[in-house]
Amino acid sequence: MIFQGKGITVKELSAGIVEMNFDLQGESVNKFDEVTLREFRQVVDILKADKNLRGVLVTSGKEAFIVGADIDGFNALFNFPEQQLAAMVREINRIFSDFEDLPVPTVAAINGLALGGGFEMCLACDYRIAAESARMGLPEIMLGIQPGFGGTVRLSRVAGVDNAAEWIAAGGMNHKPAAALKNGCIDAVAKDDKLRDAALTLLQRAVDGELDWRAKRQPKLEKLKLNPMEQLMAFESIKGFIIQKAGNHYPAPLEAMNSIRKGAEQGREKALDIEAASFAKLAKTSVAKALVGLYHNDQVLKKKAKELAPLAREVKVAGVIGAGIMGGGIAFQSAKSGVPIVMKDIGEAGIKAGLDEATKLLLAGVEKGKVTSEKLAKCLTSIRPTLSYGDFAYTDLVVEAVVENPKVKSAVLAEVEGIMDEGAVLCSNTSTISISKLAEGLKRPENFIGMHFFNPVHKMPLVEIIRGKKTSDKAVATVLNYAKKLGKTPVVVHDCPGFWINRVLFPYMAGFGLLLALGEDFVRIDKLAEKFGWPMGPAYLSDMVGIDTGHHASKVLEEGYPERVGQARKKFGKNAMDVLFEAGRFGQKNGKGFYAYELDKRGKPKKIHDPEIYSLLQPIVRRKVEFSDEDIMNMMMIPLCLEAARCLEEGIVESAAEADISLIYGIGFPPFLGGAFRYMDSIGLNEFIALAERYAEYAEPLYQPTEWLRERAKNGQRFFA
Ligand code: NAD
Repeated sequence: MIFQGKGITVKELSAGIVEMNFDLQGESVNKFDEVTLREFRQVVDILKADKNLRGVLVTSGKEAFIVGADIDGFNALFNFPEQQLAAMVREINRIFSDFEDLPVPTVAAINGLALGGGFEMCLACDYRIAAESARMGLPEIMLGIQPGFGGTVRLSRVAGVDNAAEWIAAGGMNHKPAAALKNGCIDAVAKDDKLRDAALTLLQRAVDGELDWRAKRQPKLEKLKLNPMEQLMAFESIKGFIIQKAGNHYPAPLEAMNSIRKGAEQGREKALDIEAASFAKLAKTSVAKALVGLYHNDQVLKKKAKELAPLAREVKVAGVIGAGIMGGGIAFQSAKSGVPIVMKDIGEAGIKAGLDEATKLLLAGVEKGKVTSEKLAKCLTSIRPTLSYGDFAYTDLVVEAVVENPKVKSAVLAEVEGIMDEGAVLCSNTSTISISKLAEGLKRPENFIGMHFFNPVHKMPLVEIIRGKKTSDKAVATVLNYAKKLGKTPVVVHDCPGFWINRVLFPYMAGFGLLLALGEDFVRIDKLAEKFGWPMGPAYLSDMVGIDTGHHASKVLEEGYPERVGQARKKFGKNAMDVLFEAGRFGQKNGKGFYAYELDKRGKPKKIHDPEIYSLLQPIVRRKVEFSDEDIMNMMMIPLCLEAARCLEEGIVESAAEADISLIYGIGFPPFLGGAFRYMDSIGLNEFIALAERYAEYAEPLYQPTEWLRERAKNGQRFFA
């Protein structure tokens, strides 16, 4: 053994040929944490001094190759001043360069995931060979940063600036070996079980001089051979695409592009200086802080789910009652995810609509090449339509998704409970009705829970899991497990009117309603909200959800929170939602809401301006106030944040981490802001409270912080460190 560390071991395979194996003790994956980086330095120094060295094979002892740098350590690292951080990154980079400069050929055998720093390790090798099941990528921009271990420098020299820009700046996706091979990011692909032999053969051929590894390495050390015209063409065409994709709120893609472009004109060392400077600049942005924070928040969710997992009942067969928009979507998602599902409705027409919806989604997948015709057939046969309850005796979990009517729901739930196995879990997809209240009519309330999907089910990543007063941990664990199987991110919250997501969305919508009552134009508000980073503005969102649905839910919220939402209504009387609802303008579903809708060339609804709406809204305007762009966003964002704080105070949501990540997945809260709690932190709680008070004159309860929040502000408490 040449070196035996906690993260890396090096042993001689045959005379002068060594294997450098990454296998981080006590961890399920390899990552470049402090220990591994320290050992990497030691190993490179040992290999540099080894006069007998003839070749190095780089391998992993885990299922994944190396998943990247240690994100858990980022917070501490990113707190260093920018220049110091750049110097630290540059120091790490010297290890990669020293490895690259070893006077012998090097080969990376990529057996699994090689991401970020993991793929940068591969790029520092002369040859890269990947197993068919491996996946590679440089996903740093998803964290608001860019590669910092040589990725921008080496990939542009290995595969060209266009491919480097695509891999690094245009989304940070994972790539399959075939695609990586096609654009020159790797040199060969091997069957999984032949990878090691193939990599060793490749290394041996280089050692024997059959392959000119020096000639292969040389371009990585030099500036890129592009004439100024070619450079301009390559960068400008990609730049437009990147700006369009990333939008204005995310600086990382453009900074990474600049780093590639400036680095292309320099030799390796100067190019690495540029990369380190860009990396440090990005690491200090609030966007990077927010996106790295989201990664940590996601880990909190996963950890909680993992802790409960042993209690879960495995869901082998699921059931759904009500084959409407939601039921059909749930059936499709379950079948597609490999969990057969029984789907019940009251009539043939309902069943047909549910099946048609699933077929439509599957056919769209076939068209895009994502679903094979075999998979389509398999999915459709694993949805079993029925008009009776008989088959529900064999289900492990059932989701009730019938009309939003407490009487109908209670009757359906009681009936199916009588048929289901005693240990099976019963869920309701209700958007508004109290879970504890629905549980009152059930024999086994401990097995009953809310499983609130969002529309459209196949697209929305969040599922809100609502714990009733009597819900057991086992039921929670089972639903978490099922949600995970469906590829969803579940957040567990406690029961209250509107639950967590709608409860915080509605004060935002109440702020929107207030703006309309004070004479603001909804088109301006929508444009500002989009510019702010929301996927769509509140008027368009109301049209998409359905004015009737929103109207009904707002009534529940008004009754649930009379002191805030209810009082605002009393003060202002009829609001825009009432007027649209009464006029039968239900939104996209019937072609008219705030906007009117016509079908585009592809048959999809397209919003158009409808002058009629202004005369309809005129009577709800109480008085005309001039608001700045900033005021408008504040008047919607502040009520949302204050309600989120109330939910945390009341324990409806258990942590700021879970709250923030679920707002992003559930309602598209702008990710670069990190969520409501990080947003308040970034403003500063004292400043945020002062800001809220500025708007209290318009509708005091909506802009009133609780004592708990004031106290936190007084004590200088932040939600995140
Ligand atoms: P929908 O009207 O599209 O579908 C309801 C279906 O239930 C219909 O097919 C109807 O025939 C069927 N049904 C009615 N009574 C039944 C009974 N006794 N037994 C079996 N089937 C019965 O409604 P939807 O939009 O799918 O909503 C369903 C539930 O999901 C509601 O509780 C709603 O609040 C909730 N939800 C809806 C959305 C949304 O955006 N649509 C989002 C989240 C949650």
